[in-house]
Amino acid sequence: MRDFDYARPASLADAAAAFAGGGEAAFIAGGHTLLPAIKSRLRMPDTLVDLAAIPGLAGVALEGDTLWIGAMTTHASVSTDATVTSAIPALARLAAGIGDQQVRNRGTLGGVIANNDPAADYPSAVLALDAVVETDRGTHSADDYFQGMFSTALEDGEIIRRVGFKVPLAAAYAKFRHPASRYAIVGVFVARYASGVRVAVTGAGPGVFRWAEAEAALTASFTAAAVAGLSLDPADLNTDIHAGAEYRAHIASVMLAKAISEA
Ligand SMILES: Cc1cc2nc3c(=O)[nH]c(=O)nc-3n(C[C@H](O)[C@H](O)[C@H](O)COP(=O)(O)OP(=O)(O)OC[C@H]3O[C@@H](n4cnc5c(N)ncnc54)[C@H](O)[C@@H]3O)c2cc1C
Repeated sequence: MRDFDYARPASLADAAAAFAGGGEAAFIAGGHTLLPAIKSRLRMPDTLVDLAAIPGLAGVALEGDTLWIGAMTTHASVSTDATVTSAIPALARLAAGIGDQQVRNRGTLGGVIANNDPAADYPSAVLALDAVVETDRGTHSADDYFQGMFSTALEDGEIIRRVGFKVPLAAAYAKFRHPASRYAIVGVFVARYASGVRVAVTGAGPGVFRWAEAEAALTASFTAAAVAGLSLDPADLNTDIHAGAEYRAHIASVMLAKAISEA
């Protein structure tokens, strides 16, 4: 690891200033993705701008039909928070299934969705729960935010403040997890609203995506029977050392049925 400067600003404005004046700078939340990337020299920042001392970036608030979760809120906090558990229990269960206890104690919502790993869990919840990503510069709707593998609508130096999840009538997340890391080989998040059903798939393709055919079928009839026989096209899915595309397509159908029955 090569030398770098370290800044611990106490406001969003100071964080933005430290980033702008820090050469090749990077924000750090829990460090669970960033530090391994620095150690392996995939990232070589001149300045690390730590977001931990900025007030108001962690916590949960229910405002009308929106559940807001701060960017620095850890997975462990989300998994046990009473407001999350009562408003969107599927989100608490998703957070409880991320990595292991150490990962959940340090990893943050903001870090996951800024990084946008194609196998991460939260992107499926952000997309299925029609969320809004609020930053120090404005807002991004979930449908515009995720732009493919490790790519988002965030501009250089833009800081995620919080994410607003639209409270559904019912929701569930089903994940077929990698046995060691617990990242999703395939994860399917289903959310039912009065206006229709949203289905988001993570782990299967190069980035999180909505499953339009499943949404249409479930909006007409919210039953596992309505999507029986529905399958993703393997040509659009990933093959890697963990699973082939056809296997992922099969698992996605199984996870979809599981999520519907849990919802
Ligand atoms: C062993 C292991 C197992 C894991 N298993 C899973 C799993 O099962 N499912 C899963 O979803 N994830 C998993 N993860 C990832 C975990 O969820 C971390 O939360 C994730 O790596 C992000 O780390 P972090 O929150 O510490 O962010 P950091 O590593 O500090 O930051 C990650 C990136 O986000 C940027 N960033 C951070 N916060 C902000 C912000 N507020 N605004 C703008 N940019 C920001 C940083 O600059 C950096 O580029 C695992 C990680 C490990 C190490």
